[in-house]
Amino acid sequence: MTLSNGRHYLAIPGPSVLPAPVLRAMQRPAPNIYTGALVDLTDSLVPDLKTVAGGADNVAMYICNGHGVWEASLSNIATRGDRVLCLVTGYFGAGWVNVARGLGLDAEVLDFGSQAEIDFDQVEAALRADSSHEFKAVICVHADTSTSGRNDIAGVRKAIDAAAHPALFMVDCIASMGCDPFLMQDWGVDVAITASQKGLMTPAGMGFVFFSDKAKAAQIGELCSPYWDWRVRAEAAALYNYFDGTAPTQHLYALRAALDMMMEEGMAAIWARHDHLARAYWAAFEAWGAGGDLRMHIADPDKRSRAVTALSLPAPLASELRRWMEDTAGVTLGISLGLVPMDDPAWHGYFRVGHMGHINAHMVMGVLGTMDAGFKALGIAHGEGAVSAAAQVMAGS
Ligand SMILES: *Cc1c(COP(=O)(O)O)cnc(C)c1O
Repeated sequence: MTLSNGRHYLAIPGPSVLPAPVLRAMQRPAPNIYTGALVDLTDSLVPDLKTVAGGADNVAMYICNGHGVWEASLSNIATRGDRVLCLVTGYFGAGWVNVARGLGLDAEVLDFGSQAEIDFDQVEAALRADSSHEFKAVICVHADTSTSGRNDIAGVRKAIDAAAHPALFMVDCIASMGCDPFLMQDWGVDVAITASQKGLMTPAGMGFVFFSDKAKAAQIGELCSPYWDWRVRAEAAALYNYFDGTAPTQHLYALRAALDMMMEEGMAAIWARHDHLARAYWAAFEAWGAGGDLRMHIADPDKRSRAVTALSLPAPLASELRRWMEDTAGVTLGISLGLVPMDDPAWHGYFRVGHMGHINAHMVMGVLGTMDAGFKALGIAHGEGAVSAAAQVMAGS
């Protein structure tokens, strides 16, 4: 028997749930792309995007996903052979390194592993050792979606300042922006990147590069063709400049609707909601783990992303639970990325739950209740009282 008919819930760390107003906003024929309402609408996105980023001097919008803005950001500020210092704490940090190397940059990697945070002393030492200031940039990921670990971005800034190094500070906020607090201006971030399909609640297909005036002045531009040049986009004199060609019209209406929702809720309330819902999940996971083998990959709650939680069960139970939840109950959980190779039998012991964007208390309680049913159906050992523990957290709102 299946109980999965009805609305399916994709509870993975992106693409996230699309709000009804966002879907409705896209249901329209292509508008005039030369003049009129779409031009004003596109202009109106800029200040709101900067608000979501916690203040930014400039933003360039692209038709691409997260991988695209990895390339867009680096190709503007460095050229072949330039050194960049890469602080890696998971699969996505390593992914950005690959792009740097693909562009011909000399990427020096400090790899802190998938369960540790960035060691500021090591960062400071590496930068101090670079007395001729060859590093063009320090790059890292705010919340690495593969591990669900969250880095202290202000702490990295302090380490850069302690070494008095002029490198640009670049942060991948693709999983965190619109979910975890991120304050580009206050934290001294020069370049922040995100994509549309996570905290921004918009279909995949748009990428955003926020950059400071310092980064703008540091633009080299040798590696980027006119298409990736962030300056033309950020200073767009006409609609076609924003996207170097045809605008992604329906996406722009979608993003406008999503930003309207975000501006109405307010960033502080959005961050508080994500924090509260994440804590409800964690309370349940703790309770299940107390009587079984379910474990959160990041032990310290203060080091966890509020957008995604990576978990483990003895293999192959994680894959069995995912399959049961999808086939029988209409909930899709996330697969594991990067912790172990996909062809290793141990891979079936890891999974992730996405809790980013357009989610609320009943969606979280629904996933948890369904997981409880999955544990029981599959005979997976688990502690008692998990769903009530989450309810207790919800009740404290
Ligand atoms: C999702 C994600 C990416 C990759 O984004 P795509 O849109 O899949 O290319 C990169 N970094 C982080 C932290 C992410 O969460």
